[in-house]
Amino acid sequence: GSLPAESSVRTLLRDVHERYRDLQEGSVADYIPVLAEADPDLFAVSLAEAAGPMHTAGDTSALFTIQSISKAFVLALVTDAIGHESVHEIVGVNNTGLPFNSVIALELNNGSPMNPMVNAGAIATTALMPGRDGAAKFEAIQEGLSAFAGRPLRIDETVLESESASNHRNRGIADLLTSYDRLRIPAQEALDAYTRQCSLLVSSDDLAVMGATLAAGGVNPRTGRRVVSAEVCRDTLAVLASCGMYERSGEWMFEIGLPAKSGVSGGIVAVAPGKGAVGVFSPPLDRAGNSVRGLRTCAYLSRALGLNLFASP
Ligand code: GLN
Repeated sequence: GSLPAESSVRTLLRDVHERYRDLQEGSVADYIPVLAEADPDLFAVSLAEAAGPMHTAGDTSALFTIQSISKAFVLALVTDAIGHESVHEIVGVNNTGLPFNSVIALELNNGSPMNPMVNAGAIATTALMPGRDGAAKFEAIQEGLSAFAGRPLRIDETVLESESASNHRNRGIADLLTSYDRLRIPAQEALDAYTRQCSLLVSSDDLAVMGATLAAGGVNPRTGRRVVSAEVCRDTLAVLASCGMYERSGEWMFEIGLPAKSGVSGGIVAVAPGKGAVGVFSPPLDRAGNSVRGLRTCAYLSRALGLNLFASP
């Protein structure tokens, strides 16, 4: 199957934006102090087709930090570097059922992070990037995520500083990973590289293009450049399907039926394999940390565009 004609996709995006712009539910994340200053009214929706065309509605020029959505693309880069088997063995691909910053998940499983979408697994995954130290690994991440977006991504220094000064919990997780001998570099270096990857600035358009690159088997529809292999896209999307929306991943799959990843600054990327991807930005979050308008928007578009992977044709 493919997407409907361009004009009807554009109309749908305008409709969904109109429908949820006044929805006042959820609250902006504040555990990273500077994120509390985000404007709760910002709302942007973008859809990038795997075949190239782009559709947008709302505040699509707003930039926000990618946060946990980076985990999906760093997983893709690491899978490309070390392969399917090693990701399975070293990082794990099962849902924890616990919040993203859980320390218990790590302890329960003898120091195995369980999956790359929770902080423990994400920090371990970042440490598996090619590069001799944390700085080199971050450089490879910045370059790789920029290739997914099709333009150079830069760091929001204010958010980086704010998170670096307040991420005691992640520091504890990184130290635990070291105690279980899961990191090959110093915990502080792995943590810094991870915090930097979370501070990269993106727009809803960027998220849509990054997702569409996964939908298109690894070729960026904006640049035509191959970023990762089709096998890597398949593996990444499988992990997003089971773990991308925190402990709400099951409910998300039940309602929307698409692999997706969210982040605490209010972004969501949802991928329709072979077709394209939706990027949404709206800061107010539900209790699990998923954007409220983002969730509704993806549910609406999945239904209206017939994107649910489990629906019979
Ligand atoms: N940088 C954030 C953290 O590690 C990302 C969390 C998220 O988006 N859920 O806490």
